[in-house]
Amino acid sequence: MKNVLITGATSGIGKKTAEILSKSYNVFETGRRESKKNNYYSCDLSNCSSVDTLIAAAKDYFKDGIDILINCAGQYLYKPIEQTVSKEADYLLNLNFKSAYLLSSAVIPDMKQKRWGRIINIGSISGMVGEGNATLYSATKSALSGLTRALALEVAEYNITVNQINPGWVETPLADCLNKDEKQEVIDVTPQKRFIEPVEVANLVKYLISEEAKGLTGQNINLCAGLSIGC
Ligand code: NAD
Repeated sequence: MKNVLITGATSGIGKKTAEILSKSYNVFETGRRESKKNNYYSCDLSNCSSVDTLIAAAKDYFKDGIDILINCAGQYLYKPIEQTVSKEADYLLNLNFKSAYLLSSAVIPDMKQKRWGRIINIGSISGMVGEGNATLYSATKSALSGLTRALALEVAEYNITVNQINPGWVETPLADCLNKDEKQEVIDVTPQKRFIEPVEVANLVKYLISEEAKGLTGQNINLCAGLSIGC
């Protein structure tokens, strides 16, 4: 069985993905909450030094290395740019982008040696089309899609694929920042008139890490109920 490290596994998309993948993979989970599960490590990924201890904990658990990395941990910020402060930019950039970069660079040497690997980044449609008043968030997710494309090229010859899923609004605790009227607005402007369900993202992750998807790499896949194609 292949070994999966997934960040942001305590809630929403990551939790559903960990639940589905656990049926056919060895899964090591991270999140901010404490847990007594032995396949779990709690850390704050906005703090770059957490990455080293997380990798050490996962490697210790698996013994034979990490085959698949799923970078799902992330936070959203909705505020006009002039109300944001530099500290918030550092926090979001570290969490939404830099942790994925650091974790990827930590797992690549083993993947290269095994000549097999999968990296999935969970971006956002906001990083593809831009979301006004979520400028910092959109920028961190755009950076992530640049990482996805370039890294995919860098490691392609080693049978390592790197892909990104960009969800539209998904029904998770992250979306609880919207009030009832704002949720209705999201439904109204979305071509399919609905939120994405976490299971839809989880099933796409499952496909992208499978052998069947070996030819797909460097792709940004918008899973957004039509939100990115216009209204
Ligand atoms: P969520 O709030 O339900 O879960 C977020 C997960 O990230 C949790 O496990 C949490 O512990 C972890 N996390 C947050 N801050 C962290 C930190 N500082 N250190 C370590 N872990 C941290 O949200 P979700 O909707 O499941 O979001 C998952 C990913 O999907 C995020 O990257 C988010 O940007 C992206 N996304 C979500 C939506 C949406 O509408 N829900 C849309 C597009 C993209």
